[in-house]
Amino acid sequence: MSAAPQGGRRAPDAVKPSVDAAPAAASSPPARGIPVKAVVAAFVLALAAALGGLPDFQITLVNNIGLYALVAIGLVMLTGVAGMTSFGQAAFVGLGAYATAWVGGVWALEAGAEGAAWLPWAGLLLGLALTGLVAWLLGAVTLRLSGHYLPLGTIAWGLSLFFLFGNLGFLGGHTGLGGVPAITLGPVSLAEPRAMGVLIWVIVLAALWMLHNLLDSREGRAIRALKSGRVMAESMGVDTTAYRLKVFVLAALLAGLSGWLYAHQQRFVNPTPFNLNIGIEYLFMAVVGGAGHLWGALLGATLITLMKQELQDLLPRLLGASGAFEVIVFGLLMLLVLQRYADGIWPTLQRLTRRFIRRDSPSRTHGPVAELPRRTLAPRGEVVLAARGVTKRFGGLVANSDVSLEVRAGEVHALIGPNGAGKSTFFNMISGVDDPTEGQVELAGAAMTGQPSRAFAALGLGRTFQHVRLLKERSVLDNVALGAHRRGQAGWWRSMLRLDRSEEAALLAEARRHIERVGLGAQVDEAAGSLPLGSQRIVEIARALAGNPTLLLLDEPAAGLRHLEKRQLAELLSQLRAEGLAILIVEHDMEFVMNLADRITVLDFGQVIARGTPAQVQADPKVLEAYLGGVA
Ligand code: ADP
Ligand code: MG
Repeated sequence: MSAAPQGGRRAPDAVKPSVDAAPAAASSPPARGIPVKAVVAAFVLALAAALGGLPDFQITLVNNIGLYALVAIGLVMLTGVAGMTSFGQAAFVGLGAYATAWVGGVWALEAGAEGAAWLPWAGLLLGLALTGLVAWLLGAVTLRLSGHYLPLGTIAWGLSLFFLFGNLGFLGGHTGLGGVPAITLGPVSLAEPRAMGVLIWVIVLAALWMLHNLLDSREGRAIRALKSGRVMAESMGVDTTAYRLKVFVLAALLAGLSGWLYAHQQRFVNPTPFNLNIGIEYLFMAVVGGAGHLWGALLGATLITLMKQELQDLLPRLLGASGAFEVIVFGLLMLLVLQRYADGIWPTLQRLTRRFIRRDSPSRTHGPVAELPRRTLAPRGEVVLAARGVTKRFGGLVANSDVSLEVRAGEVHALIGPNGAGKSTFFNMISGVDDPTEGQVELAGAAMTGQPSRAFAALGLGRTFQHVRLLKERSVLDNVALGAHRRGQAGWWRSMLRLDRSEEAALLAEARRHIERVGLGAQVDEAAGSLPLGSQRIVEIARALAGNPTLLLLDEPAAGLRHLEKRQLAELLSQLRAEGLAILIVEHDMEFVMNLADRITVLDFGQVIARGTPAQVQADPKVLEAYLGGVA
């Protein structure tokens, strides 16, 4: 259920060479077709017409689609966007439903007919508080699990909560709770499905709007980065543990909200709709629709609800026996859809309608934009990074042995050595990805031993990775803007309500500036994964620069670049050095290193065997032996 190969989606012109391509103009196709906004407006009108005109029986179906969609939207955020799978969402729906049913049942007598109006709202508050709290506790425990253990964990608590609903006396056991009051808004009672439908769909549309805004923001980029693992997101300054937990609670709250609406539509609750089967169905909806797309959740909820309706009538008649046969059909269907449309149906739909529906690129900003705050760089020659006696053991293997090294502002320092010498390990030690077994690391004068990489990012460390870590389906602009994450402040609420627009414009303008600086201006809107590998490395450099670093760590930046591109890279790095950045670079291309570096440290078998200027190092017999003794 994770990211599928993106091969088929790449635009035909995406693979052309990048660094020396003509600036801007190339990538923007002529604006044609209906704007997306008009399509959304048409959908809302059709929905309003349906709620106004359809017979009662079908209204209930439309409402149910909305209730399911609300849960599925949360799962899209959780699974498709942030990369965490949950089978247990139905339990959160149950919490929301039972909370309000309990409030309605217990307090109704005391409140009397007059006071009943506020009961659903008290139920909503209790439901959301309870769902939020339980999700937070469960998340704090289960989100630590990796790989397949997380989905298994969600099955475990999905089952537990379900049995809890059925076995607690005050929740009515398996019979459930009745007498849930209807919601009233001032003089209007929402007892009728049609009126309830309006509330349900207003909430669904509001949720879609807010989450769409969230994903289209600084915080959205951070959430998307969670899917690619922790190392990259943390080194951009994202607290991945906190973000994972927040997304998890968000998805649970949407489920709880759906449960609240459900309870007041049905006017009674029992445990059945909150069992694990339904939890799996919710996941079906998100995945079949398109796990990475909010509107895919709506599509999935619609398809599965309608099909379930049909199959529940049809299958028992066909098979001449009663039973939940639709579950089997769903299973087969899911296999089929995932075989044929690995990312769900929505992306395919998007591709088919691309010619008729116009999506405006977010990269175009209008009007003046504010400047982001900038860091004052350390004075030239000052030690920015110091490693003292760093040793790293992996079991018996000593990958770094007593390595000391200083990097100064306004200097390019190269770390070289044969394959397996311990260069990448050392990078991990000095960027907080891993902790040294012994020794100290200081960044900008602060002791950093034991700190996470986002603390290094906070002090001005920007880095690239030997194995490129980009969000491949996202645009170059989006990827680079993630690098500026720490320079914005807008939180989830501001982003959801679109109050972050001026800051967002500033972040995007900054990202664009760095993309142009590294020579990828023409590719700004292209999917990062569609660029040649060499260019992807350059995108990583732009991303690091967007963080306004004082120290740049580059792990083999020239790998995969052609001759001209290497020259351009060397020129860029010289400029950055002249501006006062400290640069530490691991690189195999000796010509590149010798021409660029001010100082070189040579590692072999985890130990420093030489250090000095390029000329000194080149003349050192130990270096010659290390290189010639290994690979010629
Ligand atoms: P380089 O980047 O110079 O090619 P590395 O730092 O990747 O070298 O590796 C140095 C040595 O440490 C190698 O022998 C490698 O196999 C070993 N090594 C690196 N990471 C790990 C790890 N996580 N666990 C065990 N051994 C490792
Ligand atoms: Mg390496």
